[in-house]
Amino acid sequence: MGHPAVTTQRFSPSYNGIMSKREFQTEVSQLLQLIVHSLYSHPEIFLRELISNASDALDKLRHLTLTDAAYKALPFNPRIDLELDEQNHTLTIADTGIGMNEEDLISHLGTIARSGTKNFLAQLSGDAKKDSNLIGQFGVGFYSAFMVADRIEVVSRKVGEDKAWRWISDGKTGFDIEPAERDVAGTTILLHFNEEGKQYANSWRLQQVVKKYSNHIAFPIFLTYDKSEWNEAEKKSDKVRTTEQVNAASALWRRPKSELTDDDYKELYKSISGDSQDPLFWFHTRAEGNLDYTTLFYIPAKAPLDLYQPEYKVGVKLYVKRVFIMDDARELLPQYLRFVRGIIDSEDLPLNVSREILQQNRVLASIRTASVKKILAELKSIAANQREKYLEFIAQYNRLLKEGVYSDFANREILLDLIRFKSTKVEGLTSLADVKTRMNAGQKSIYYITGGPESLLRTSPLLEIYKKKDIEVLILDDEVDEIVFSGVDKYDDIDLKAINKASTSDDLKDDTTPEADTAESLKPLLDHLKAALGDRVKDVRPSVRLADSPSCIVFDEEEPSLQMQQMLRAMGQKDIPAPKPTLEINPDHEIVKKLLARSNGALTPDDALTQDAAWMLFDQALLLEGVPLQDPAAFVQRLNRVLTHSI
Ligand code: ADP
Ligand code: MG
Repeated sequence: MGHPAVTTQRFSPSYNGIMSKREFQTEVSQLLQLIVHSLYSHPEIFLRELISNASDALDKLRHLTLTDAAYKALPFNPRIDLELDEQNHTLTIADTGIGMNEEDLISHLGTIARSGTKNFLAQLSGDAKKDSNLIGQFGVGFYSAFMVADRIEVVSRKVGEDKAWRWISDGKTGFDIEPAERDVAGTTILLHFNEEGKQYANSWRLQQVVKKYSNHIAFPIFLTYDKSEWNEAEKKSDKVRTTEQVNAASALWRRPKSELTDDDYKELYKSISGDSQDPLFWFHTRAEGNLDYTTLFYIPAKAPLDLYQPEYKVGVKLYVKRVFIMDDARELLPQYLRFVRGIIDSEDLPLNVSREILQQNRVLASIRTASVKKILAELKSIAANQREKYLEFIAQYNRLLKEGVYSDFANREILLDLIRFKSTKVEGLTSLADVKTRMNAGQKSIYYITGGPESLLRTSPLLEIYKKKDIEVLILDDEVDEIVFSGVDKYDDIDLKAINKASTSDDLKDDTTPEADTAESLKPLLDHLKAALGDRVKDVRPSVRLADSPSCIVFDEEEPSLQMQQMLRAMGQKDIPAPKPTLEINPDHEIVKKLLARSNGALTPDDALTQDAAWMLFDQALLLEGVPLQDPAAFVQRLNRVLTHSI
């Protein structure tokens, strides 16, 4: 692709005061195009993004001064300064954070380091409103400033270094870099507003945007602007250059619940998550005693888009005594709760806690265990008390709960209670607890069917006998269901059974086990079918589970179903055991009865019609399982022979 990636020319020789012109990495150009041309709906988020970068830079510096001996003596005067020039339509955003050196400027503001940004590009819908919400989620934040500026200058000096650098760009093809001056470490970003951006060259508007998105940023944000003040002596208003703090700058989660309003919680959520929608729920907990910590967890209304990507962004930030420590620690919550956003603030962890320490830290392990319990318990109470709201949650996260059943043995019981299922007995979704209350008198197990889309499962011949006996069957049509539920034997004290597995359940046996003499009289036909199908089947036997269909296929308890085999193969697994299915036939079905009559005594291996019938009974059972035929041509030929015969 035309442009060389700037990363390859990072360490170019010295500048001698001459500007160096560089091109953006191709993805950056692409992204800028998109940002400038299609993401106009919320241009105000540029300020949230730049302030959050400044706040990140301050967090990083604070962390350094607290943990690294070489930086201990450094002064730390954290603040973020916005300076407005209404006449010239410019705004600067300055921080006293960690700063960037030449190399940082080139790689952080000239390339896309985060794999998340590629995901961002892939996720774009073309709907400007939705797409602009993605900006925050994927952390392509800095570039969003080009929505409102046609020229951006960044002057930065990295902590511990004396040189400063200026990065300048019009956001089109590339940027310039040159040496610059800056008194102290930190970063100043100068925006020259474009037409779209001029509305922000207004102090009132700026204050409004800061309050909206950045009120709970932990550092003070000051705005310097020309304030109109009434001059009583001269009876006119004067412009007075004024600096005022615009945000509350409090660690809101440390305040008592009683002092906080819903709006406080929602606002904090938006500022930490980059989501512009209100969260579904939040759970705020203050633990005192053995361990002191505060947690504030949020459930986003829409599942984060990167949920199923290996590089998903962690949504919970770790603080120690209100000091930000890290926001990418996967240890904070189990993976299946990766949709949770929020804050864990501990009094007991050391400030210099490293990633390695986190992994085996007892304090964190206890906080994590308690947090998971808390989240699941809160969800359970919502499920009980706010059914409608809970279904909104389920619509987004049911599958994640299943992951939990699979991976979190300690919380399996409650997770099973939280999951919702489709069923043959109710519209919509149901819980296992409800299924239990609907069980027939004397019913021993709870049943489910897996392997394929809902429409296929609902018409499966395997369901017939359950319908006839009025036994509820759960329709597990999610791809992960078979993997998850094959590992779950019981709900409460009740067995959970897949109806497409061979062993027949106690609930069917009583009145449907074929009479011994039926089995005896069927034998010649069974033998014949077996001979015809050869090694494609494990066995052919009379069925106890069919009512209206002539045949079905089943697998042994421990064997993967056909869909599961297909899925594993699609996932690239090579050596999938291909267990053979067992063909079951329905002794009460017309076809079987007629075949039996025909075969009675007179069955010969070369009876072409029974031969065809054997295959057609097998193929139709496969088709109903959603498995494509191995030899469609042969199927059609047989069909035609049988038709010819019967017309
Ligand atoms: P993100 O914040 O998600 O990493 P951004 O596009 O907002 O993505 O910023 C890109 C990178 O540029 C940041 O990760 C950071 O390394 C650097 N950066 C941006 N603004 C600042 C700043 N004010 N001080 C120091 N580094 C910054
Ligand atoms: Mg950012």
